[in-house]
Amino acid sequence: MSSFEGRMKEYSYISLDRFDRENLHSRAYFLSHCHKGKDRTRRGARATWWWETRSESTLGLSERTGWWKTQITILEDVVVTLLPAGHCPGSVMFLIEGDQGTVLYTGDFRLAEGEAARMEFLHAGNRVKDVQSVYLDTTFFDPRYFAIPSREKCLEGIRELVKDWITLSPYHVVWFNCKAAYGYEYLFTNLCEEFGCQVHINSVKMFEMMPDILSHVTTSRETQIHACRHPNGEEYIKGNRLPCGSKSPDGKPLHIISIKPSTMWFGHRTRRTSVVMRVGRSSYRACFSFHSSYSEIKDFMSHICPVSIYPNVIPFGKTVQDLLEMLKPLCRENSRKGFVDYRPLGTLKRAKVEYTSEGMSEHTHKYMTCKLSTYI
Ligand SMILES: [Zn+2]
Ligand SMILES: [Zn+2]
Repeated sequence: MSSFEGRMKEYSYISLDRFDRENLHSRAYFLSHCHKGKDRTRRGARATWWWETRSESTLGLSERTGWWKTQITILEDVVVTLLPAGHCPGSVMFLIEGDQGTVLYTGDFRLAEGEAARMEFLHAGNRVKDVQSVYLDTTFFDPRYFAIPSREKCLEGIRELVKDWITLSPYHVVWFNCKAAYGYEYLFTNLCEEFGCQVHINSVKMFEMMPDILSHVTTSRETQIHACRHPNGEEYIKGNRLPCGSKSPDGKPLHIISIKPSTMWFGHRTRRTSVVMRVGRSSYRACFSFHSSYSEIKDFMSHICPVSIYPNVIPFGKTVQDLLEMLKPLCRENSRKGFVDYRPLGTLKRAKVEYTSEGMSEHTHKYMTCKLSTYI
C-alpha cells in the first residue's frame, strides 16, 4: 500500500495517484495505473468528481468518460514523459522535467535488470539524465525479496501445472484466486494462447479498449480456466469452489484446483522453493510479482543515480527512516558513480500544447510523451 501523499517536493502543484485532502488544490493530476474500476480508497467520490471536472490538466483512467482521459490545458513549463512501468496494462512512470529539476515518479513498477538502461527517455544522448529525485516503488525493497523469479519463469511453472491438470479430462478445471482485477493479464493471455482456452472473468468491460487482452478472456463459464472472483471476497460459495458456480453441462462433478498468485508468501519462506508450491489437497501458490525485486530496484537506481530517493511504500515492519537509510547507498553522494555531467534541458519555449500518444490503451510497452507548456 502506497504511503505517498500525492505531491512531490519539486512540483507541488502536481498530484500523482492520490486525489484527496490537500491534493484537491493541485493544478494537475496524473494516475499511473489502477487495479479496480473505482479505486475509492485512493481518491473517493468527491475527488473523482473534482478530478474529472475541475482540474486544469488530467491524465489517467476514467470510468465515466472512457478508458484514458486526457485533458491538458495549462501548466508551468514542464515536460512530462510517460515511461512503461511493466506493472499492469497501461501502467506508466512519470518523468517530469522543468525548472525545479528532473524527477521520476515510478508509481508501481516491475522492470527487469538492465531494462532502465534501454529506456531512451531516461537518457540524453549517451548519458543518463541528471535526475534530482526519484519517488520509488519500494514494495519489495527488502533483502528477503532479493531476487524474484522473472515473469517468464513463473509463467513456465504455472503453465506446467495447468497443463498437467486440464489435460486429464474436460472436467478438470483450474481457478486462479487473484486478489486484484488488473495485473494478471500476462498470465491470462499466455495461458489462453497455449491451451486455446479463454479465461473466465466476471466482466470484460475493463478490457474493452484492450483488444489484445479481450480476445483471451470470456464471460462464458464453460471453460477450464477461471479467474472469476467472489463479489464480496469470500473464499468459497457453498457447494462450489468456483466463484461463478459453474457446473459441467452433463452434471458430472468438476475437479477443481486453485492457484493463488503470490509474492509475499514466497518471500517469507526460509527455504528455497520452486515457483509453484502445493499448499493443500487441491490448492497451490504460484510466485507472481508485478513489483520489482530488491536487486531489480538496486539495478534501476544504480543506473539513474539520483541525488535523492524517496520511498513510496513502507514494507511491513519497516519505518520511513529504515527505508531512507537503505536507499542512501544508491543516492549520488554515496554511489561510486559521482555526478553525471549532463546539462538540463534549459528553458522550454512557450508553445501550444503538444500531445502525442502511441497505443496508450494497449498493453503498453510503448512510450508516450506528453508535453505540457504554458498555453497562451
Ligand atoms: Zn499497483
Ligand atoms: Zn468462473
